[in-house]
Amino acid sequence: MDVDLAIVGSGFGGSILAMVARRLGLQVALLERGRHPRFAIGESSSPLAGILLEQLADRYDLPRLKPLATFGAWQRAYPDVGCGLKRGFTYFKHDAGRRFVAAADRSNQLLVAASPNDELSDTHWLRADVDAFLMREAVALGADYADEVELDGVEWSAAGTPTLTGRRQGAAVRVRARGVVDASGPRGFLSRALAIEARPFDGYPGTQALFSHFTDVERCDQMADYAGAGARGENPPYPVDDAALHHVFDGGWMWVLRFGNGVTSAGVAVVDALAENLRVADGEPAWHRLLDRFPTVRAQFAHARPTRGFDWMPRLGYRAASAAGPRWALLPSAAAFVDPLFSTGFPLTLLGIERLASLLDSGAFFDDVRSCRPSGLPSLESYSATTLAEADHTARFVAGCYAGFPRFDDFVQYSMFYFAAASYAEMARRVAPERAGAGFLRVADPVFASALRSLSPACGERAQLSARIREAVEPVNIAGLCEAGKRNWYGADAADAIAGASKLGVAPAKVAAELAALGF
Ligand SMILES: Cc1cc2nc3c(=O)[nH]c(=O)nc-3n(C[C@H](O)[C@H](O)[C@H](O)COP(=O)(O)OP(=O)(O)OC[C@H]3O[C@@H](n4cnc5c(N)ncnc54)[C@H](O)[C@@H]3O)c2cc1C
Repeated sequence: MDVDLAIVGSGFGGSILAMVARRLGLQVALLERGRHPRFAIGESSSPLAGILLEQLADRYDLPRLKPLATFGAWQRAYPDVGCGLKRGFTYFKHDAGRRFVAAADRSNQLLVAASPNDELSDTHWLRADVDAFLMREAVALGADYADEVELDGVEWSAAGTPTLTGRRQGAAVRVRARGVVDASGPRGFLSRALAIEARPFDGYPGTQALFSHFTDVERCDQMADYAGAGARGENPPYPVDDAALHHVFDGGWMWVLRFGNGVTSAGVAVVDALAENLRVADGEPAWHRLLDRFPTVRAQFAHARPTRGFDWMPRLGYRAASAAGPRWALLPSAAAFVDPLFSTGFPLTLLGIERLASLLDSGAFFDDVRSCRPSGLPSLESYSATTLAEADHTARFVAGCYAGFPRFDDFVQYSMFYFAAASYAEMARRVAPERAGAGFLRVADPVFASALRSLSPACGERAQLSARIREAVEPVNIAGLCEAGKRNWYGADAADAIAGASKLGVAPAKVAAELAALGF
């Protein structure tokens, strides 16, 4: 088979890139080792992921992709593609051996709304459904799709073009391409075929994960232990369970993500010492040992039944030494993964697709190694550097969060770096695109990035932490964050964004009009 672009892996990343490449007029082979529908982990979206999807859909004329950006549009367009409501980010701090009791000052919880209503809400993706849907969309646009392909290597011609080799159902497979993108996940195909060295994140703790899907998981808002948060009669900014719900504890955290079909995704990420203590390699028995430590979490899962086996990941973090070379690239999700905390996987993957799309569009992706583009223009070299810099920056941030877990307020304060950067990036993309180029978590903003590094709980710096973080995020704080008076409940308030218009370099009326057009 001869194509322009071979894409290895048909998760959402590979299929969306295939759709874009088809719209650019490229011949595309999409090669999958498994068979859809199949289970995949990585389910919780975010506002930044939503706008990235929306903009990819607009830029590359992919109207059928766009409804996946918000809950309301998704329900109307694709009611049969499984999804859940994610109105925000919910965190509860638990102590081993003790019931959770909501503190009156809300000091053991954090709620940050990501949307003002269900219509505009983010989503949890039932990946078996979503990935199968996107693969079919890529095929409908003309991608040549083959599943159950066992690739065994890549050969390079004298002109520097790749040929992928392998087998499918006993027959030899050879795909000659002008370029190849690896969308097969961490430690994936090209990392092995090109023997790309793994280079662990500096200062990042070793973490492991254990997860499954369940039915009959209780809602926290139906449980007495969670009642009484804040003053009586106050309503939280959104229903706490219709969110990415996190149970945070010393050494790790648990995610609880509800889908509309009654299934809930739940899992735990823990540092090695706790993983060993729980003997997470045992799977389901370890899950129960974990629940036994936290009585309120145990009560939430008292009637829960797993719908599939447990997956144990002995090492969550992965970072390749390089993310691209002449005529080849790893999607960010193949180049590195840190931790599911803060749902960074989707936006990083979509940012990578956006960058690769423009390299495919300009032709730079297929540049001959010997040809010289003027320096400073996007290239596969700059793609690799940016991808890895964002992964490293994310790892520093997540390491700081783990270090903050034992003193929950440190974690709450430190999390404001994420919420400020993400909400600013989303709004900048809408009203001030020239200010949206600072990269994920503002990695390319030296002042912000340096504060994120120096004020990390992992550095042990605690003096005046909240005041210093408030000052550091102030230039991009357009979401009313870091306000002690809100006592850890942050709603999605249009007034905050309008008041922050000058930080985006636009008039308040422009932000107001954009929010009104969105249905805020
Ligand atoms: C425990 C955990 C929880 C996570 N939770 C979140 C979250 O809540 N939110 C978030 O944003 N991110 C999350 N992530 C990250 C998220 O999973 C990834 O960002 C996302 O799955 C990337 O999608 P993808 O399509 O690029 O790759 P993948 O989803 O990894 O898909 C890779 C595809 O390639 C195929 N493949 C693999 N090897 C080969 C091969 N040799 N040949 C051909 N095909 C191959 C696979 O079968 C699969 O279909 C999580 C990750 C983990 C590990």
